[in-house]
Amino acid sequence: MSGSILGTTKILGVMGFPVSHSLSPVMHNAAIAAMGQDYVYVPLPIPVVELPVAIAGLKAIQSVQGFNLTIPHKVEVIPLLDEVLPIAKAVGAVNTVKRVGEQWVGTNTDVAGFLEPLKKLNSDWEKMPALILGSGGAAKAVVAACLELGCSVIHVVGRDPRKMKKFHGAMTSQLHDYNLRVHPWASIPHLLEVAGIVINATPIGMASDPNTPISELEMNLLPDHAIVYDLIYTPRPTKFLQIAATRGLKVIDGLEMLINQGAIGLEFWLDQPVPIEIMRQALLQHLAYSK
Ligand code: NAP
Repeated sequence: MSGSILGTTKILGVMGFPVSHSLSPVMHNAAIAAMGQDYVYVPLPIPVVELPVAIAGLKAIQSVQGFNLTIPHKVEVIPLLDEVLPIAKAVGAVNTVKRVGEQWVGTNTDVAGFLEPLKKLNSDWEKMPALILGSGGAAKAVVAACLELGCSVIHVVGRDPRKMKKFHGAMTSQLHDYNLRVHPWASIPHLLEVAGIVINATPIGMASDPNTPISELEMNLLPDHAIVYDLIYTPRPTKFLQIAATRGLKVIDGLEMLINQGAIGLEFWLDQPVPIEIMRQALLQHLAYSK
């Protein structure tokens, strides 16, 4: 928010259900204020069955310029949009929508947000098999990102064989038969032995959950050069990252992905560079106060 809400103020927001946990209003309103923009970013809690009416209703409200989507709307929103950009089509999920004239145009900034902290590492990605834990919406963006990195092979593990088969079918048709393999959860130890990067794309370890998707013993199976990436950003660190760091591995948590996907989204809405450091500081301050 830039200060006062005026008759001219334009609206951005985040649609989800629930959405009260979202940190997006914190970082977006901090950036909007620093830029002196006449915008406000608000939470938009919308139950699944109300999504079509909400998308149509928001189009009728001319001051609504765009919105983010979080669980459970990232996939279901696709047929409700006027245009979906290629990156979102490839992932099969939309997390950012912009009003362009009278059209809703959807994109996906999770892929670029996920990649940002990895860009700083000089890894030989072609020699790094990726192991992704979980096959939900975020895992889809991570598969597309690993493809962009050029990982030699992408392994995805999940607990439901039917969902895994569906995931494989959807991703290979969207990503043109890439070297993507799906496995049952029990294959994790065997896959860890060869993994160059392991990504937790499940909610295991989130908030008050003291669990980890892979145990301390299993962590020892990873090669010494492996990177361990958790999409979760609270707590910091998760138990998963704690045991990886103790093992001496390179670790990355989900906060930079959150900040970067948000900054790329805000740039898409406002058509100008945004102050990412202000977004980062606003989030860090908020997380420190809410501990
Ligand atoms: P989602 O669509 O609900 O998918 C969750 C996945 O985790 C599903 O494949 C689910 O398997 C699996 N899973 C859940 N509990 C499990 C368990 N106990 N054992 C094994 N697998 C389990 O959620 P999402 O949107 O992909 O989000 C996943 C995580 O990423 C969340 O923690 C979310 O906060 C985080 N995330 C972070 C960012 C960021 O910017 N940092 C962005 C997006 C997501 P089933 O299908 O079998 O239930």
